[in-house]
Amino acid sequence: EALHIEGGVRKGDTDLDQWSGIWVFAEYRHGQIAPVAYELLGIGRQLADQRGVPLSAVLFGDQVLEHANQLIAAGADTVYVVDHPALADYREDVYGRVLEDLIRARKPEVVLAGATAIGRSVIPQVATALGAGLTADCTQLAIREEDGMLLQTRPAFGGNIMATIECPHSRPQMATVRPKVMAPAPVDPTRTGEVVEVEVPEELLQSRVEVLECVQEEGENVNIQEFEILVAGGRGLENEKGFELIQALAEELGGGVAASRAAVDAGWISYPHQVGQTGKTVCPKLYIACGISGAIQHAVGMQSADTIVAINRDEKAPIFDFATYGLVGDLFEIVPLLTEKLRET
Ligand code: FAD
Repeated sequence: EALHIEGGVRKGDTDLDQWSGIWVFAEYRHGQIAPVAYELLGIGRQLADQRGVPLSAVLFGDQVLEHANQLIAAGADTVYVVDHPALADYREDVYGRVLEDLIRARKPEVVLAGATAIGRSVIPQVATALGAGLTADCTQLAIREEDGMLLQTRPAFGGNIMATIECPHSRPQMATVRPKVMAPAPVDPTRTGEVVEVEVPEELLQSRVEVLECVQEEGENVNIQEFEILVAGGRGLENEKGFELIQALAEELGGGVAASRAAVDAGWISYPHQVGQTGKTVCPKLYIACGISGAIQHAVGMQSADTIVAINRDEKAPIFDFATYGLVGDLFEIVPLLTEKLRET
């Protein structure tokens, strides 16, 4: 089911035709460009080509100029770099003001950012300051041929429908996009483009925030989005011990362990393993779902996997509606058997 929403604030003096070009906010942290920036350049390239406009990336940080060419190789025509010690650490007020200033000066029609902690923090602030429409957490973007409108699609009402949102009355059209749903553009180191170093007024760089220390989050440092194979467990595993079966199969396949929210809420496995609307979105080559019913909130996080194998004893479980292969049976028999067979080969 689809829902169509028109959003955006009408600003009396906004001449929509003055706004042109697609922008990607290239998030930079821990000394490198975040993977989501390349994914945004992938979709951004398609949108820009369809509109016949340039694709630009915006890069903020301290000593980041040398990274600008990576963004050109990944699809950007122009990279606007603001390189300043005041931008070394992410600070919402400074990043927000600098981005707003750039957008006001250069008037892009579309601004995309990752739906990451940083993107979710800076983009709403900038959209509010500009009176622009914003769709958070998009999973799909397209341009409507007739009028060039950006169609921004995201799960709505608890993931029960996909809503397509457009912002007809304001510019730029702004969207944050979930990591791992868009494919990065192919990297071509021979691509050429323009790197523009932007000077910003000192007063924009003043902050009320002082970063004292950056502390790595404690606990498991697992990133399930990096695995090509994931074995996932749900309530059907019954307890923490059930995950040992999943772990053994994952190890045999050289993959990682994922989980439904039911399993995480029960305390059988930690939150970084959760897949779905309130967890991670993953796109592995193979996703094996064991004892997971396939609720929509789980499905939105894994249904773009290349191959989905579902093991469930209930033949009517919704997961069989979208699994590539279904095994109806008891996971406590099937999973150890699979692991054993793989061990033999
Ligand atoms: P269940 O739905 O209970 O399914 C267990 C399955 O295991 C059943 O199909 C059963 O037939 C099967 N089974 C039982 N025993 C065996 C056995 N021995 N062998 C084989 N099969 C067996 N869920 C998420 O996963 N991720 C999210 O991010 C998420 N976010 C949410 C956000 C909101 C706002 C809401 C309202 C819900 C969210 N949920 C999320 C919860 C979601 O709606 C489901 O409740 C949840 O996904 C169910 O997890 P499950 O499939 O493990 O459990």
